[in-house]
Amino acid sequence: MTARILDGTKIRDQVFAELKTEIARLAAEGIRPGLAAVLVGENPASQLYVKSKIAACQQLGLASWMHTPPASITTDEMLRLVGDVNNDDAVDGILIQLPLPKQVDTKRVLEAVDPAKDVDGFHPISLGHLVSGRPGLVACTPAGCMEILRRNHITVESAKAVVLGRSDIVGKPMALLLMHANATVTICHSKTRDLPDAVRRADIVVAAMGKPGYVQADWIRTGAAVIDVGTNKVTDSHEAESLLRNFPARLQKFREKGAVLIGDVHPDAVNTAGALTPVPGGVGPMTITMLMSNTVKAARLRRGKSRTDTVQSTAGAR
Ligand code: NAP
Repeated sequence: MTARILDGTKIRDQVFAELKTEIARLAAEGIRPGLAAVLVGENPASQLYVKSKIAACQQLGLASWMHTPPASITTDEMLRLVGDVNNDDAVDGILIQLPLPKQVDTKRVLEAVDPAKDVDGFHPISLGHLVSGRPGLVACTPAGCMEILRRNHITVESAKAVVLGRSDIVGKPMALLLMHANATVTICHSKTRDLPDAVRRADIVVAAMGKPGYVQADWIRTGAAVIDVGTNKVTDSHEAESLLRNFPARLQKFREKGAVLIGDVHPDAVNTAGALTPVPGGVGPMTITMLMSNTVKAARLRRGKSRTDTVQSTAGAR
């Protein structure tokens, strides 16, 4: 069996088209949704992420601001900056790019963000809304995974779902979203016994572990839907040769570039799964997409008259 490929870029384009309609509707009410990004220091990966988020804002016609304090910033200075953006009425969404430098108390900073502007969904109030199944802003990566399932008509209700990973930003919210969508959910982590057995029972597997190719193809039940959140840069040639032995074209690219992005699921799972998100091009594009969706939603909820959801609310993207 060859898996149906669940293309995140296609869904991004659909969602962007829907968002443009909603942005135009808000513009008619005199509202231009805006995202303020805070990028501390000069971490190249963080710079790249924030740049793509600002580019997405520009593509959609959203306002955006970038605050770039130095890596030496203190917790108090960060709290003042967050206070300023909280008080700026033109700002609907606040994005604090993580990780923050060691001397900064990340939890205090994230908790200082106005929950109405918490487009990353990391604030305890947002998490509380998610736990209790109330509408709110949901963390972008898991919300994007739900959107992939929904738009590909993958049945979640009554499905057995296994989530690999229990981080606050992916695994835990993902498990809650699946549960609210009426799946029966098992959460696995590094202390789980008999991981292959747990995966073998799943109709839906969500892998968010940060371990390249860890989930073996023969762990995947034939026909299962696999959402691979893992984004791992592999530079070791032995590892790449072993993971990509059945994908000569990708291997050739690795040899030319010296690096390849591999998910947490072994690439050979394309022959056992019924549906699979590719890495790259699956979950990755959906994270920024849901950030844009959350920013527009935050603007509508905070400032808009109209309350209709253009990007349909699922249990995943409330
Ligand atoms: P994280 O905070 O490091 O959490 C990893 C989780 O995986 C932990 O809960 C850990 O268990 C579990 N785990 C690690 N090794 C395991 C093993 N051998 N068996 C079972 N569980 C294991 O990572 P994260 O932030 O959730 O990210 C996970 C992956 O998703 C990473 O590759 C990251 O790059 C990727 N990601 C992608 C996007 C995107 O937009 N595509 C967004 C976010 C994250 P313990 O709790 O027991 O330690």
